[in-house]
Amino acid sequence: MIQLYVPLNYLGVIYREIKQSLADMERLFSLLDQHREVADGPDAQPLRLTGAEVRFSNVDFSYEKKRQILFGVDFTIPAGSTTAVVGHSGSGKSTLSRLLFRFYDVDAGTVTIDGQDLRDVTQTSLRRAIGIVPQDTVLFNDSIEYNIAYGRPGASHDEIVEAARAASIHDFITTLPDGYQTMVGERGLKLSGGEKQRVAIARALLKNPAILIFDEATSALDSKAEQAIQAQLKAIAKDRTTLVIAHRLSTIADAAQILVMDHGRIIERGTHAQLLAAGGAYAQMWQRQLASPDAVDVSAPTDAVG
Ligand code: ATP
Repeated sequence: MIQLYVPLNYLGVIYREIKQSLADMERLFSLLDQHREVADGPDAQPLRLTGAEVRFSNVDFSYEKKRQILFGVDFTIPAGSTTAVVGHSGSGKSTLSRLLFRFYDVDAGTVTIDGQDLRDVTQTSLRRAIGIVPQDTVLFNDSIEYNIAYGRPGASHDEIVEAARAASIHDFITTLPDGYQTMVGERGLKLSGGEKQRVAIARALLKNPAILIFDEATSALDSKAEQAIQAQLKAIAKDRTTLVIAHRLSTIADAAQILVMDHGRIIERGTHAQLLAAGGAYAQMWQRQLASPDAVDVSAPTDAVG
């Protein structure tokens, strides 16, 4: 849903699309709902990026008053580095990305980028700074070129091709009947989950954000597809402050920092090697993944962690 946030001036484009797609219409309404949650303060300033350090300081959060979701969440993603979050379903991983995008405000504590509280900066500048590769990418009923350009309306054809190459989807596009002009989406060519995620990566590369949120797809992958995802993640995370919501431990083994969440709390943190040596929840997940590499979604709520 996050990826559907668009500035209001793009709503006309979406409106054209919703006439064609009920799914998009539902998303538009949830988009408008989301939009009501937060507003720019009277003194909101554009975000001033220096290195794009992200910091959550003692964050408490609940969607509804009666049910607290995050408890004292505290971590820093140093500028230009990758932090991965793991933990089983419902532990609060995606909530972190929603707070970073400021779909909601925290109940206590702060979220800052380069020292600026997200509540003090304009939403437009915040969302310009952050790119998202969602689990499930929505494609518009339009050409594949249009779908990639959506990352930065007005991009030239050459820039689009460059982004598609970097996302390893250019070769695939050239095999399509009308190349970049091939219609995709519900009324056009259906793309596989992996192809859609590569379109999302191309969009994100075109947007060239300082901060990237990569929400790994939950679906099981064969080892070739898995290696492709690892390579792409590396390519897009390079020199960006990156938050990976991970479902597969093998894709994040070289993240600078791994956070393990359980019921809204960070219960372990460290590098892959440190966490294995600690022999705790992460080490158990790793063992489980080694035992059944095909059932890779470590966030599945099959086996209690922590
Ligand atoms: P998954 O791996 O399944 O994506 P997650 O760790 O990302 O899970 P979150 O999506 O962050 O989990 O959800 C954390 C908790 O917040 C869950 O219990 C979920 O039911 C709840 N939650 C998420 N979104 C909302 C919402 N919009 N309103 C109320 N509760 C919500």
